[in-house]
Amino acid sequence: TDEMRLRQCLLNVAGNACKFTRDGRIDIRAHRVDEDGRAMLRFEVSDTGPGIAQAQLAQITEPFHDTGDASSYRFGGAGLGLAISQRLLAQLGGRLDISSTPGAGSTFTLTVPVNLTEAVTAEGEPRALERSA
Ligand code: ADP
Repeated sequence: TDEMRLRQCLLNVAGNACKFTRDGRIDIRAHRVDEDGRAMLRFEVSDTGPGIAQAQLAQITEPFHDTGDASSYRFGGAGLGLAISQRLLAQLGGRLDISSTPGAGSTFTLTVPVNLTEAVTAEGEPRALERSA
């Protein structure tokens, strides 16, 4: 895959876990998995932070999303990190899955194909992200 873009997404999600988890634990797990015959990389970033309300889950990947609660404001941020990460992962042929239990924590799962040549856009066109240099 494109190491630089994947790293941006991981840093963003891991950075959020650190930002929102004042006292607690963050685990990052990496697996290589097979999905319908495609070799995939899967990273799970779990935290024991405040969690995200079910009603917010679908919206937090929208650009400039603000949950409107005091904690988002206190911790700061433009509300762009997850929007960018979700789009970058899609461009790599992958996805961002989010699950959360308010009061208990959140898990952000990043899944991308091992090989960039298998990355496919939503329109089904292969996506050329390789740098020519
Ligand atoms: P920001 O840079 O403002 O944090 P993001 O797009 O990275 O923007 O995140 C959007 C919102 O999603 C955050 O403001 C926060 O409400 C919520 N969020 C993201 N990660 C976490 C997390 N690990 N735990 C709780 N809430 C989170």
